[in-house]
Amino acid sequence: MADMPATETHCPYCSLQCGIALRPTTSAVRLAPTDFDVNRGGLCAKGWTAAELLDHPDRLLTPLVRKDHGDRASPLREASWDEALDRIVAAIRDSQRRYGRDSVGAFGGGGLTNEKAYALGKFVRVALGSASIDYNGRFCMSSAATAANRALGVDRGLPFPLADLAEARTVLLVGANPADTMPPAMQYLDAGRAAGARHLVVDPRRTATARGAYRHLQPLPGTDLALANGMLHVAIREGLIDEEYISDRTTGFPAVRAAVNAYWPQRVERITGIPEADLRETVRLLAHNGPAVILTARGAEQHSNGTDTTQAYLNLALALGLVGRPYSGYGTITGQGNGQGGREHGQKADQLPGYRRLDDPAARAHVAAVWGIDPAELPRPGRSAYEMLDRLGTADGVRVLLVLASNIAVSAPHSNRILDRLRALDLLVVSDIFRSETAALADVVLPAAQWAEEDGTMTNLEGRVIRRRRALAPPPEVRTDLAVLAELAGRLGRGRHFSADPQTVFDELRRASAGGIADYAGISYDRIDAEGGVFWPCPADDHPGTPRLFSDGFPTADGRARFVRVEHRDPAELPDAEFPYVLTTGRNMQQYQSGTQTRRVRSLTVALPEPRAELHPDLARRHGIADGDLVELRSRRGRTVARARLSVDIRPDTVFVPFHWPGANALTNPALDPHSRMPAFKACAVAIAATLCPPPAPGPPDGAENPEHSTTEGISR
Ligand code: SF4
Repeated sequence: MADMPATETHCPYCSLQCGIALRPTTSAVRLAPTDFDVNRGGLCAKGWTAAELLDHPDRLLTPLVRKDHGDRASPLREASWDEALDRIVAAIRDSQRRYGRDSVGAFGGGGLTNEKAYALGKFVRVALGSASIDYNGRFCMSSAATAANRALGVDRGLPFPLADLAEARTVLLVGANPADTMPPAMQYLDAGRAAGARHLVVDPRRTATARGAYRHLQPLPGTDLALANGMLHVAIREGLIDEEYISDRTTGFPAVRAAVNAYWPQRVERITGIPEADLRETVRLLAHNGPAVILTARGAEQHSNGTDTTQAYLNLALALGLVGRPYSGYGTITGQGNGQGGREHGQKADQLPGYRRLDDPAARAHVAAVWGIDPAELPRPGRSAYEMLDRLGTADGVRVLLVLASNIAVSAPHSNRILDRLRALDLLVVSDIFRSETAALADVVLPAAQWAEEDGTMTNLEGRVIRRRRALAPPPEVRTDLAVLAELAGRLGRGRHFSADPQTVFDELRRASAGGIADYAGISYDRIDAEGGVFWPCPADDHPGTPRLFSDGFPTADGRARFVRVEHRDPAELPDAEFPYVLTTGRNMQQYQSGTQTRRVRSLTVALPEPRAELHPDLARRHGIADGDLVELRSRRGRTVARARLSVDIRPDTVFVPFHWPGANALTNPALDPHSRMPAFKACAVAIAATLCPPPAPGPPDGAENPEHSTTEGISR
């Protein structure tokens, strides 16, 4: 093969979507960063090594089916595409005949391109006629999205370009650790600090981001809402709020003012553990040392009150008059690669493309017209992610499930329950690039093209729509998800509504989103190529796109932002005598999501070969645990074993476990936020003990047919 020209595309991992150039050569695919206006030549270790995935020996290269059809204990064997698709279509038809249309469903992912997320939502509604679809972004961004929609009328993670952070004089980061999770983003925060900006980090752990900040506030997990209400209490008492902004641009402040009256600093200190002096200093900096930005991320959002917690920080930002002013405002740092676009175009249970609602008659009529169907054919909203997974295989639940770009056996909360439910399915179909823990349970596994082998668009954390470009052809028996969905739709008699061509799908997405909140009507592949990305909303070909939102108003009925009264409540599960500590989960620098990809990259696993349970030395001493010892963690839902990493950077009452390996989510609590249906990943009660039981096997499971090999065990409720 002669060396080919470089193709400019983007990293396959997080929402920063760093620009990279790929050059296939005779011996390997060479990867280098580009000067894309986000990473500006920077990459993290995950991005630098992403090309290792392309010809990885674990790559799925042909469809797999169970040797004995219907017997999940039988081994997976290679199959033709015809045999695999025949099995899927037969199971769909049988299930829908016996149990109704909603008995067949799909679970998507925030890593899918906009085209694939859109096509999956349409496939479920049009080809299956089913209400049963949701995706792993429900476990990631849903609380921030719900709160932003409630307060601002729109959910776009950052309503300004990332580079604006360099101009902010004060930045409050709540439950966010970009120094570890997206290091190239730190160039903007570093530039701000070099110019004298003050950064304050709220996190139960002294993370790399917290270590570099001016101040670290270290609350008990699950108390961020009380902290925000306490800050607003101080702002009101000290006359720091922007009365004119509140009067001119918002509604609902009196109720919030009344509510935060009860959050005096001494009470907030008792709830959160944050000293009164730090509380007051933070508010004074936000008010006096502007421009100021408040950022939240999963640490604040992944709770059973995550929507209200995010809302509390939005209330604070609005009361201080930050939102819509230059280099000021509120934002949430999106996690997954297409976490933004993936939550806009219809793979959520209650959603149609363009951020339209499935229960809105006008939205149904618009989208049905684009799709060429009767609006009455569109199903009603379905169940949210955990609620759908929790009922798999039951009489009124999904019995045939198609999973794209998601490893729910590892990433869903209360994972032992989810493993049971996955096994109860009549047919589990997984499309992936590797045999993930979820794929290992499947009846049919479809080998998917990966990031460098397909065209499409992604929408990064700023709301900038960018091109993912094909740099090389997929292996011969590997297909794109778009091609698979179009083929399945054809076999189900709905083929005329679907295309396997990404640009055709994107052009249809543009029409379907036109007039919606996330309006892509004026964005085309040609414009993205010419302009290096286009920010939505962009309603027309001659519209410049919208890098900054809210300067002229809010997309609410009256053009005003909305305060919403929110109150602190305890986490869904509190420590007690049996489970005396708080578990919080999160990420390591070297790994990404459930690790399906990064646990297969050699240099990343050398740097971090296994999960480490982070404990304060005082806590470890009480249990006779030394650094590197094995520690058993138990919650009411399960147990796991990991090596201890002793660190003074974590609170003595809190244990941290990364979620990139099986185990962490055996412990987590599926208590759901009432508004967003987000599970309480970030706070549950655990017990710890030294153990001699071996830890999980490091790295990727070798053809793991049983993810419980990792010593994760269920404990009945
Ligand atoms: Fe990839 Fe995110 Fe790392 Fe950039 S920061 S190289 S997008 S993983």
